[in-house]
Amino acid sequence: MPIVTLDENTCTACQTCVNTCPMGVFELESETVVVAQEDQCIACRACEASCPVSAIIVED
Ligand code: SF4
Ligand code: SF4
Repeated sequence: MPIVTLDENTCTACQTCVNTCPMGVFELESETVVVAQEDQCIACRACEASCPVSAIIVED
C-alpha cells in the first residue's frame, strides 16, 4: 500500500491536492489539510506534481 506523507509545516492548506487527488485521499479538517484516506491511494502521484510547495511525498 502506498504511503502518503504531507509535511504540515510546509503545507499552506491551499487545497490543490484535495481537488487533484482522484481518490479523495486528502481532506480539509478545521483549516488543515490531512491525509484522511491513505488506504485509497493508487500512487498516481498527481498530488506530488500539483503541490506548489512540494509538501507531499508518495512512496509506493
Ligand atoms: S498519489 Fe494519487 S491517489 Fe495517491 S494521494 Fe496522491 S493524487 Fe491521490
Ligand atoms: S497542495 Fe500542498 S500546500 Fe496545498 S494543501 Fe495540498 S499539501 Fe498543502
